[in-house]
Amino acid sequence: MSFQPLKGFRDFLPPDASNRARVIASLRETARRAGFEEVETPSLESLELFKVKSGEGIVEETFSFTDKGGREVTLVPENTPSVARLLVSRIKVEPLPVKWVAFCRLWRYEDPQSGRTREFSQCSLDIFGVPGVEAELELLATASQMLEGLGLQGEFVFRLNDRRLLQGLSDALAVKVPEAFHRALDRREKLSPREFDQELERAGLSPEGRERLGGLFDRAERAPDGTAGFAEVRSELERWGLSEIGTEGLRTLEELYALGERAGHAPTWRFDPSLVRGLAYYTGIVFEAYDRKGELRALFGGGRYDKLVELFGGGSVPACGLAIGDVRLELLLRRRGRWPERSDGLDVYVATADGALREEALTLVERLRRRGFSADRDLLGRPLARQMRDASRRSSAFVVLLAPKEREQGSLILRNMRSGRQDVVPVASLEDALAAGRAAEGPRGPAGPDAPSGA
Ligand code: AMP
Repeated sequence: MSFQPLKGFRDFLPPDASNRARVIASLRETARRAGFEEVETPSLESLELFKVKSGEGIVEETFSFTDKGGREVTLVPENTPSVARLLVSRIKVEPLPVKWVAFCRLWRYEDPQSGRTREFSQCSLDIFGVPGVEAELELLATASQMLEGLGLQGEFVFRLNDRRLLQGLSDALAVKVPEAFHRALDRREKLSPREFDQELERAGLSPEGRERLGGLFDRAERAPDGTAGFAEVRSELERWGLSEIGTEGLRTLEELYALGERAGHAPTWRFDPSLVRGLAYYTGIVFEAYDRKGELRALFGGGRYDKLVELFGGGSVPACGLAIGDVRLELLLRRRGRWPERSDGLDVYVATADGALREEALTLVERLRRRGFSADRDLLGRPLARQMRDASRRSSAFVVLLAPKEREQGSLILRNMRSGRQDVVPVASLEDALAAGRAAEGPRGPAGPDAPSGA
């Protein structure tokens, strides 16, 4: 019998597992520098929490079951409800605003494809208690720094819209079934132009309305990134005679662009009046990030959700958030040569030329570990040649060889595995010799996310 991971689930082998940890450490550090405090929520929650937010339909997408106590539970498919639940429980003691960052694993019963798995991880940022676009800017600025901190400068573009503007479009086009209109827009990328047109027709859009909408989207697609593009599409929208709510959406976007322009972020923003991000839940600005070449699905998504905390019984608390997924981030980092491709090589492998010295090797390994070196030795009592092969396989930078002759003089042999140079070093000054050797070698492998980025 042979076992494999379940469909849509992944194993992470060395060195990928620790390279992933490096990426997460970089995201965590950027969030910390931006003043986000870390929270952690459970992997299993009451199914009801997600039904309240997203309706019964969510059940289809979850790994949910009835537990031994007869409770309907689910592996969490997203963490916003958990974070909102946490906020509600802290609302009396937590002075607002709060900025929270969370790293979690999520599970969704979807059809696995490139960039889409059934188990994945997210880094989410949420801000509670800020009604104005300062919060959106804070999220987008932090997300930019996260991507730049990983070496992705110039590789991403953020798409922005406002849900109220969508409502305004729906009003201006006299859409008969707004839900169907939103759903059609949400599915636009997945549909052929003909299928999209048919869905719009089913939503009750007239042929003229469909043409007008198509013209708007084309114009937005052709417009340049940044504030100039936004201004171009905005002036067209102003001619649409938007309803009050639509105008409010446009005005909020304008405020965010003005702020983003001053902070130097707007050049990577693209106004996309077709962006929906799901059906319910979002109440204002929404955004998504894509790789600039447009090769992958969305890297992150988010927006304002001012009604959710109230839905969970926490009173009216403005909120917005975003979540970056690990799968597409890894794909993009790899494609752009920015994946921190480093092996977990050892600093030192302690080998023995004589079985009698194995106990000494153990003591020395422990001493080196306490002094901050990664050190290991042979656990099987193998001959020296096999130990040396093991040291190579483990990508050890140095080998310390304990041999009887040098041992008598209180020394050992230190071999630099890259240059092949060997020195006889007093046991007492081994650490100094290793530190000097390491400094002469320079850092291992290509610069990764924990290298200073200058961002
Ligand atoms: P969402 O929680 O659906 O708003 O998605 C936010 C981000 O999480 C996306 O932009 C993706 O990066 C990631 N994501 C969502 N669903 C999946 C999935 N099934 N597999 C991999 N990544 C996902």
